[in-house]
Amino acid sequence: MEIKYRNKEIETMSREELAKVQLAGLKETVKYALRTPFYKERLRNVGIESPEDLKTLADIKKIPFTTKNDLRDGFPEGFLAVPKSEVVRLHASSGTTGIPTVIYHNQHDIDRWTELVARAVSLIGATNEDILQNMMTYGLFTGGLALHYGGERLGMMVVPTSSGNTRRQFSFLRDFKATVVHATPSYMLHMYSKIEEEGFKLSDFHIKKVIAGAEPYSADIAKKIENLYGVDVYNNYGLSEMNGPGVAIECVYKNGMHVSEDAFYLEIIDPETDQEVEDGVPGEVVLSILCRQATPLLRYRTHDLSRVIPGQCECGRTFRRLERIKGRTDDMLIINGVNVFPSQIEEILMRMPEVGTNYLIVVDKNGALDQVTVKTEINSEVFSDDARDLNALKARIRDRMKATIFISPNVELHQSNSLPVAEGKAKRVIDNRKI
Ligand code: ADP
Ligand code: ZN
Repeated sequence: MEIKYRNKEIETMSREELAKVQLAGLKETVKYALRTPFYKERLRNVGIESPEDLKTLADIKKIPFTTKNDLRDGFPEGFLAVPKSEVVRLHASSGTTGIPTVIYHNQHDIDRWTELVARAVSLIGATNEDILQNMMTYGLFTGGLALHYGGERLGMMVVPTSSGNTRRQFSFLRDFKATVVHATPSYMLHMYSKIEEEGFKLSDFHIKKVIAGAEPYSADIAKKIENLYGVDVYNNYGLSEMNGPGVAIECVYKNGMHVSEDAFYLEIIDPETDQEVEDGVPGEVVLSILCRQATPLLRYRTHDLSRVIPGQCECGRTFRRLERIKGRTDDMLIINGVNVFPSQIEEILMRMPEVGTNYLIVVDKNGALDQVTVKTEINSEVFSDDARDLNALKARIRDRMKATIFISPNVELHQSNSLPVAEGKAKRVIDNRKI
């Protein structure tokens, strides 16, 4: 297979060369980190007063991990390393009722990110001859804008349909002949089930490649999408703390996601002992960003579970490959690509005076899409009320969740003391989806 590199020198450099690039990037990141209120203190506590205090890459281990809670504590400007006037964009975590996490970018950061995404798209073998229909949400969520700019940088025509409106997606696919689609795997499956219903045929479309990510999915699901549409599916991994898409993507060999190691320092750790594990051993992905000035982040705990696939990829690239994400170490749920913590659902429920104390969140697959059912107990006075009032309460709960955490659950109201009570730790979530 002929491999078209975007930048062969970088993509195929030796691990020794890469280590030099990474050390320089790490020093640069530490330089900016020392300008933030958060890291100034953190780094000084471990004796890092200047970038020169990092002599080798191994010195990164002196730096404590950074967590999502740190980001929340630092909200809104604790991690900002450049003057506000220099910032050109921010992205904030998808839907939080309380404190969101925010990542600021200056023009340098956007340029580096855009180039990373252009390179990511070229890894799947796409070129400026391709047309990209970008079905990921444009906005605070990173997926839409990242592929938009990255696709343009590669010279593709980008069709910015954003997410939803399946019928319009179909007509745009037919009329503008997208050859590459960026979507969540669940949306790809959902779309398939609607083709006929919406009056289209598979032969109306010209899709060859699908960039699928933002949520965990199995190899079987990837195969299923490939077989249904007759396309190749490429797994794409990113998180807003590390810009978003552009962190890791599969190449044409579809055997693990090459991490952009010139821009991210990857560690896999044992989440119990916090010690780094060898390549091949599963653990939690920890990432440091080496290409961003406005919001430096060092040793960020992603909570994502994976492992490095040992050995060299046939494509010739030297960047290591991450295996498909196997799950998470925390309780974050990903509902049709949107991140939701059970605590956010709880917070909404508990702010409603009608709601009792016990609740249960059930997640199922409804066709290809994820469906959340929130079962909640309500106070006995309310329960005896008119059915119309109960329906109005259900609608209010659903609307509030839709507005603040972007999910539309089925809501079931239950009498006090009717939902199961656990003997030990409360079990609040039943996730019936299988990865
Ligand atoms: P994104 O815009 O990539 O969804 P978020 O910050 O909203 O960024 O969510 C990031 C999380 O989404 C990751 O930590 C991971 O749990 C999940 N995720 C993103 N891409 C993938 C993927 N390809 N496979 C599995 N999980 C993914
Ligand atoms: Zn490869």
